[in-house]
Amino acid sequence: MAAGVEDLGRRSFLTGRFAPVRDVTRPPWTRHEALAAACTGCGACVEACPQAIIRMGAGRWPEIDFSRNECTFCGKCAEACPEPVFDRALPAFTHVVAMSAACFAERGIVCQSCGDACPEGAIRFRPRLGGPALPSLDADRCTGCGACIATCPAEAIAVGTPETAHV
Ligand code: SF4
Ligand code: SF4
Ligand code: SF4
Repeated sequence: MAAGVEDLGRRSFLTGRFAPVRDVTRPPWTRHEALAAACTGCGACVEACPQAIIRMGAGRWPEIDFSRNECTFCGKCAEACPEPVFDRALPAFTHVVAMSAACFAERGIVCQSCGDACPEGAIRFRPRLGGPALPSLDADRCTGCGACIATCPAEAIAVGTPETAHV
């Protein structure tokens, strides 16, 4: 996902339609401070994830790759970590998702794959004259699970911020 996200962020920034997306997504229930203080880079969370979405990134900190799969919030990464890095009392993710102009529906091709994939019903489709209905994110319902990212055939969805969701 990393290269695509960087491209999307750059394009979004240049067009001014979307705020830049985040370059790196860390595992659920982790925050920068805890990783910096306690992560040893042992890779236990990588091995534990049944969805195979955690990998070791630069700096030997784990990061999430939503390009093929979503997070099911199973908690196995947190259970496997021998250090005080994961805090299950926190919200799992602080991000939501953002859609770019690469979206098929934006380009006149009927597609509702992301809405079908979303387990929270956070993506609705707004009818419009002269083209297919457009996806619209309800940021309050989005858990950041990434199911829509993995499903989108246009690679038009990336990790973003609540501010980008309403654009
Ligand atoms: S909660 Fe489960 S699916 Fe999500 S990153 Fe952790 S191990 Fe993987
Ligand atoms: S799945 Fe991707 S291409 Fe299809 S409507 Fe959603 S954002 Fe657009
Ligand atoms: S990341 Fe948000 S919008 Fe996408 S499938 Fe998960 S809950 Fe739905």
